[in-house]
Amino acid sequence: MAPGYDYDLITIGGGSGGVRASRVAAALGARVALIESAALGGTCVNAGCIPKKLFSYASGFAAEFGDAAGYGWNVPQPRFDWVLLRDAKDREIARLNGVYSKLLGDAGVNVVEGHAVVVDAHAVEVAGRRLTARHLLVATGSRAVRPDIPGAGLGITSDEAFHLETLPRRAVLIGGGYIAVEFASIFSGLGVETTLVHRGSRLLRGFDEDIGTALAHELQRQGVTLLLGESPRSVSREGGTLRMMLASGRELSGDLVMFATGRKPRAEGLGLESAGVALAEGGAVQVDAHYCSSVPSVHAVGDVIGRVQLTPVAIAEGTALARTLFGGQPSTVDYRNIPTSVFSHPHVGTVGLTEDEARRRFPEVKVYRSSFRPLKATLSGDDGKVLIKLVVDAASDRVLGAHMVGAEAGEIIQGLAVALNCGATKAQFDATIGIHPTTAEEFVTLRG
Ligand code: FAD
Repeated sequence: MAPGYDYDLITIGGGSGGVRASRVAAALGARVALIESAALGGTCVNAGCIPKKLFSYASGFAAEFGDAAGYGWNVPQPRFDWVLLRDAKDREIARLNGVYSKLLGDAGVNVVEGHAVVVDAHAVEVAGRRLTARHLLVATGSRAVRPDIPGAGLGITSDEAFHLETLPRRAVLIGGGYIAVEFASIFSGLGVETTLVHRGSRLLRGFDEDIGTALAHELQRQGVTLLLGESPRSVSREGGTLRMMLASGRELSGDLVMFATGRKPRAEGLGLESAGVALAEGGAVQVDAHYCSSVPSVHAVGDVIGRVQLTPVAIAEGTALARTLFGGQPSTVDYRNIPTSVFSHPHVGTVGLTEDEARRRFPEVKVYRSSFRPLKATLSGDDGKVLIKLVVDAASDRVLGAHMVGAEAGEIIQGLAVALNCGATKAQFDATIGIHPTTAEEFVTLRG
């Protein structure tokens, strides 16, 4: 109990980090209110991981229909219904919103609807009410940003891509990060003529270089037009067509322009600066190892702190914060070896250091790499390739990084992440019996 305050904890934002912190805090005996201005579940549930993966499944069927023929199936020309998919996805998300509401209710968290503004170190205002708490948690996530070019407003971001009235015939996507390549695969798989424009020389900056190169090759093989080293200068509308001018003078046209040009912490308009909360350059809330801001009673987790913008990380940070505040257990998150997947077609999975990072940190690094046609492709006739790669510290034999481009890469890398966290050596990988015939077994049969 917090004498003098309405609550022990007020959480602003009912997304991955805020919901988890609130539930754990309540389970530890805290009186908690959670304020959400939109839908419970936040970005991941409503406009991120979940709807994106459902769309990714939908687009993946296109290749499956093609593959089936080589295995004796006579598949009549399939037809795709965008409205059916979009509405089915909306129903699933509404169900998940209900699950979140029930989880919070069952945990004893008081959910308040509305846009919260921090008034001082212990108070927020929402829907004309002032609520106070011993601790405030800012878990407001991030928002998509568009480039500052004429006509940028004519394009959409991933937020709107989930609600399109109709599927475009031709789409131009801008960006080279995971959201850009995932939507390039989604649109292309659903039959949209897709162009991906990226100012960098390779896709997926921050991932192992071989991964970006292999994925670029696969996307092009599947018919995505890839324009690297190009950036947009303007967008304009002519009738029903959008025209995009690139810095090189090249002109593109399409029915849809989508910007996947990064996300910014959502820390503005919250009253944080007037409450004395320091923001870092780029707008993230500055926090210490235990997610405490420059004001001791104000905390922040998730995308708004601008560290690793992934749902499982926001959840881990929320758990650590609740334990620190109400469990008598100062906790933090170990940011090493965070595995991640990109749900492009094919998938990407990765954990640990890239080859470049490893070479910067270790005097001698061994790299094991294999690129091959998976067994399934033999009869289907698909000529796509799988890439797998291990990065190893030569001195200790410890595996520093595991990377993959291929079907279900995320499912495979999740298990390898446990091995890397346990400090597995290459010799231990080699001593592990493979599961035959799988793609994953290649990770234990890689030889120099
Ligand atoms: P959020 O989940 O964004 O929650 C913040 C909440 O705060 C929102 O509900 C918002 O409405 C609310 N809010 C904001 N301001 C206020 C206010 N003033 N008052 C009240 N409420 C407020 N991550 C993965 O791990 N895997 C993926 O596959 C993946 N795919 C993604 C795909 C896309 C297209 C996007 C955009 C993101 C994806 N992410 C993915 C990232 C993931 O969604 C985020 O890292 C995660 O949701 C961050 O959680 P959070 O709690 O910090 O914020």
